[in-house]
Amino acid sequence: MYLFHIRTYGCQMNERDSEALSCLLEAYGHQSVTEEESADVLIFNTCSVRDQAERKVLGKIGIMKRLKAQKPALKIGIIGCMAQRLGESLFEKLPHVDFVVGTGQMNQVPEFFTRIAAGETHLSALSLEVEEAELSGHQGQSLTSYISVMRGCDQFCTYCIVPHTRGREKSRPIPDIVKEVREQVDGGSREVLLLGQNITAYGVAEARKEGIYTPEFSAFADLLQALQEIPGLLRIRFTSPHVRYMNQKFIETVCRLPKVCKAFHIPLQSGSNRMLAAMNRGYTAEEYLQCIEGIRSLAPQAVFSTDIIVGFPGETPEEFEQTRQVMHQVQYDMAYIFRYSQREGTRAAKTLKDDVPENEKMERNQILLSELSEGVEKRNKAYLGKTVEVLLEGKSKRNEERWTGRTDLNKVCVFPPVEGFHPGQLCQVKIGRTTANSLFGDIIQA
Ligand code: SF4
Repeated sequence: MYLFHIRTYGCQMNERDSEALSCLLEAYGHQSVTEEESADVLIFNTCSVRDQAERKVLGKIGIMKRLKAQKPALKIGIIGCMAQRLGESLFEKLPHVDFVVGTGQMNQVPEFFTRIAAGETHLSALSLEVEEAELSGHQGQSLTSYISVMRGCDQFCTYCIVPHTRGREKSRPIPDIVKEVREQVDGGSREVLLLGQNITAYGVAEARKEGIYTPEFSAFADLLQALQEIPGLLRIRFTSPHVRYMNQKFIETVCRLPKVCKAFHIPLQSGSNRMLAAMNRGYTAEEYLQCIEGIRSLAPQAVFSTDIIVGFPGETPEEFEQTRQVMHQVQYDMAYIFRYSQREGTRAAKTLKDDVPENEKMERNQILLSELSEGVEKRNKAYLGKTVEVLLEGKSKRNEERWTGRTDLNKVCVFPPVEGFHPGQLCQVKIGRTTANSLFGDIIQA
């Protein structure tokens, strides 16, 4: 039996993979520990999206060489996207690493534990063919369960490494997902966050293979409908949709189903059609705005968040202005704004010159960030004196004497505890103060 510790870098998909892998290893009799120092096996679940993320984890594992010299029994494994991308070359850079496992082969890790215990080293499993059985275990009970509904991405945006590290799209059957969600709800979860790199393409690859794909197809809408029926589940969120597959069936379904939260994260990336084409996003700014308007016409309360890249190769000041204009038009509640940086292995890195100066990228980034924050702060003021429904999550991380929770529109609310209320419960909170990030108020007792 090994004591293991998984350190996770990157996105929610990686967090979910780490959780499922921990469950699998525990089922084999190994034990997860929270302290790195107490572990016999250290596993690094890595991210490749940005160069900086890779450098950070390579630096951290490099330092482990000294630790391993002091503690020779210590075993080190690298899993996830960076493991997939760099593969066995990691053994040359970091000879003290014992195993490397890619994104589709996590099921191999228990067997690798047995083999490293028998003295083997430099083991690798890197095929992108996802194993038949999806890892679906969950650790403990949390109010929000992360549920991976599909893997991979077939979109091949020119700047993105994900299709190269996570492989082609593969969706899980609806009954398997419903079963997993039911179990989580029976165990106390009240909210699910459905995960997929290109989630609106859920089921599309399978439908294409069967020859039943049409522009009206949306298996993701069918999945949402099936989850809506689960008693005890209060809220459904998902990330990340792609405009290319947001057809009328999808729009009507997300707006109609009461459990689907009306806070949507819809990556824009750029407001310039020339940039969108260079990124291979597969939609225009006009089509993007049509989706937003389609949702707003059926669910006027809907709010939006997004991802933006500034300084993509060749982005002119006018094209940046177009992004700024779309941001003004949509009035996002939140945005992840990235300065473009080349990722080795992507089409953009091979074919496009990273020609926007770094100071220009920084300036564009700053402009969008400050306009975003100003807008959110102003719009949050509209909540003053209003009562909102909050899913109570527990103690606030910033102030343990306060509770925190979120509205279905994903607004963080902070309020004093009230006896008789508990995490997992919906409560009514009257808002007395707002900032750009949070709403503050008091629970109203019936
Ligand atoms: S849709 Fe584009 S950005 Fe998103 S994971 Fe796929 S390739 Fe990457």
